[in-house]
Amino acid sequence: MIQRPRGTFDILPEEMPYWYKIEETAREVSALYGFSEIRIPTFEATELFARGVGDTTDVVQKEMYTFTDREGRSLTLRPEGTAGVARALIENGKCSDAMPLKLFYIINCFRYEKPQAGRSREFYQYGVELFGSDSPAADATVIALANAVISRLGITGTELQVNSIGCPSCRPEYHKKLREFFAANEEKLCPTCRERLKTNPLRILDCKNEDCIKLCEGAPKVLDSLCSPCAGHFETLKKYLDASGIAYTVNPKIVRGLDYYTRTVFEFISDKIGAQSTICGGGRYDGLIKQIGGPELPGIGFAMGITRLILAMKACGSEVEEPMAPSLYIAPLGERAQLYALKLSAGLKEAGIYSECDIVGRSLKSQMKYADKIGAKYTLILGDAEIDTGRAILKNMQTGEQSEVGVSDIDALRRLLS
Ligand code: ATP
Ligand code: MG
Repeated sequence: MIQRPRGTFDILPEEMPYWYKIEETAREVSALYGFSEIRIPTFEATELFARGVGDTTDVVQKEMYTFTDREGRSLTLRPEGTAGVARALIENGKCSDAMPLKLFYIINCFRYEKPQAGRSREFYQYGVELFGSDSPAADATVIALANAVISRLGITGTELQVNSIGCPSCRPEYHKKLREFFAANEEKLCPTCRERLKTNPLRILDCKNEDCIKLCEGAPKVLDSLCSPCAGHFETLKKYLDASGIAYTVNPKIVRGLDYYTRTVFEFISDKIGAQSTICGGGRYDGLIKQIGGPELPGIGFAMGITRLILAMKACGSEVEEPMAPSLYIAPLGERAQLYALKLSAGLKEAGIYSECDIVGRSLKSQMKYADKIGAKYTLILGDAEIDTGRAILKNMQTGEQSEVGVSDIDALRRLLS
């Protein structure tokens, strides 16, 4: 028995109503906010993620699925969507389009992580990116979009946490303060964080190690180190969120896992899905496009983990649409009736009616059992006599009521069934 690779999962038909609801809601709300869909390759040059996501991040250092193709190129399965979208904009000359440019995507991503509830090695994201505005109004717009999607999915009990991590002009000063603070406590840090102390001390605040978390409580706060433009940006964003009636808390410990973030970072946290509780993470990445070879172009976006959304929807008892049950089940008796039933069923489908007929060769009794099992609303038994007279018995499976109907007039049948 060959098993699926560790950290991957099959999405079975019974789960699909959740996926459909999320995808439909994402498309609908994105459209309401003027975001258009973009599709990008599943793999990219490794260099894109090294530069775009950042060499010092966990994602690049430990989590990428990187391989060499037959021509010796280093390629990587996308661990996230933003870098690929940014690359696509530059490559397709879209950076000089009318701004803002608003895009969304629904993609699978790949990260070599320790699989657990809400964390897998292949996972799915709904993400949006807004380019060409550095105004806090853009930040407020994408946060409002995320908020609308979450609430339309029937997910309650989430908390929006926001923070600002500054910009290239004020962050070095903050890095210095962090280095000083952690250098004094270096022996208490985990080995990874001792490395981070040299390369990117901000990442220490994101560490999941118990001792590091404890130590971080006393660390200098990024909000105390913001330059005045960054502080102003953050204040204005909070004002816009207040005005939009979007509740939030400021959490100075949110730094996000990826390097390209500047200023605003935010997460939506669910209180109902266990330890992997971040259902949406996002932030501003004003340096990204330049970083990967494009012009100066600010951007802000977020990504939601679809499996975590589903866990939250289930915990909240969100309603999803059940798969369609057939309006009619046709039970043919004999060869002639089989042919007739196939034709009748096809005609009904053409008229937009979902009908099933036996294609297994079951006995009448087990056909009726099967019709009941698949939730058919009506059944129709067809034998030679019915075909000769053109009339058959239609049985309402809920009430048991039976009536005689003409079977040659599809239109009349359609009216009866709908
Ligand atoms: P986390 O702190 O949970 O590792 P992250 O900062 O690595 O999250 P992002 O890169 O911002 O996550 O991805 C956005 C969202 O995608 C996350 O908030 C989460 O919902 C989802 N996500 C990230 N990694 C995984 C994974 N391995 N499995 C399932 N969902 C994931
Ligand atoms: Mg992660």
